[in-house]
Amino acid sequence: MAFRPERDVPLAPLTTWKIGGPAEWYAAPRTREDLLAALAWAKTEGCPLTILGRGSNVLLPDEGLSGLTVVLRHYAPETVLHGEAGDGSRLFETGAGFSLPRLAREAAAAGYGGYSFYIGIPGTVGGAVVMNAGFGPGDERQTAHRCEEVEALRPGEAPRWRPYADFGPTYRHTALIGSDAVVLTARFRFRERASAESLRQATAEHLAMRKRMQPLTRPTAGSVFKGTSEGQPAGRLIDEAGLKGLRIGGAVVSEKHANWIENHGGATAADVRALIVRIQERVQARTGIFLEPEVRMLTP
Ligand SMILES: Cc1cc2nc3c(=O)[nH]c(=O)nc-3n(C[C@H](O)[C@H](O)[C@H](O)COP(=O)(O)OP(=O)(O)OC[C@H]3O[C@@H](n4cnc5c(N)ncnc54)[C@H](O)[C@@H]3O)c2cc1C
Repeated sequence: MAFRPERDVPLAPLTTWKIGGPAEWYAAPRTREDLLAALAWAKTEGCPLTILGRGSNVLLPDEGLSGLTVVLRHYAPETVLHGEAGDGSRLFETGAGFSLPRLAREAAAAGYGGYSFYIGIPGTVGGAVVMNAGFGPGDERQTAHRCEEVEALRPGEAPRWRPYADFGPTYRHTALIGSDAVVLTARFRFRERASAESLRQATAEHLAMRKRMQPLTRPTAGSVFKGTSEGQPAGRLIDEAGLKGLRIGGAVVSEKHANWIENHGGATAADVRALIVRIQERVQARTGIFLEPEVRMLTP
């Protein structure tokens, strides 16, 4: 059957901030065939293409997105746990829509540690590959230290496997950001053998740390700004500038973690953008440091 996208689909519920207007055209493919058909449709129609995973690191515009928005949260058709390599490690291969907490659980179920940090990151494998999701600079708990190979597709070309290192992952950055490549599949290396008890403990400690330090009861997109290249956490700079609790419309700088902006109900993308600019101005006036956003601010 010919591919037919849906029209005028609300996107705010598909983001963790619960902000943004509708998609002009929308598809949420579950199979490779449907995904490839959606991408081919956008190319044939000559319309802009936006890919979303779980929308946990994006600010969508209030006007919505023109062209086709392809949401990959249901796209995880190819999950394979490869046999043990000579060093005892195993490769795990999955589609871009596989959730990161599930990835953590798959590693644990196979008896491997080193993945429990993904349990608290509410994104997809595709989003993690694009953003090199994980902890801060210098910490080895980053997607770059877990993911080995990525299958990506550029419009009009055939899908191609490449080493993840080819995309130059650094702290919250890869060459995939802002490119037109679509991540289809990724292979992760399960390396560290761990007992069920130590895995349970690592997961519980990680979740407790997040609950203690992060505002998890309101809609957010996690950290809004990157830390500085000198290793100063953005949250500390914002806190020291006295900005906790600062509000524009429904968007509020979290009292619990100053690098998070909470949606206290009815926040618009315009509110969040204005708050981001206000924070940047205040921190820069005080310290001379310009805070670079980590969240992807998509345009209509
Ligand atoms: C409570 C909370 C905690 C968080 N904690 C962390 C954390 O500890 N560490 C961290 O790094 N991040 C964290 N984040 C941010 C976010 O979860 C991660 O960046 C995650 O990897 C984004 O995945 P996603 O599927 O939601 O991507 P989205 O937000 O949907 O997309 C992010 C970007 O990737 C692009 N994209 C997504 N999938 C694909 C694909 N398959 N192909 C091509 N482009 C694609 C999108 O176009 C967009 O530019 C947190 C967010 C929240 C809400």
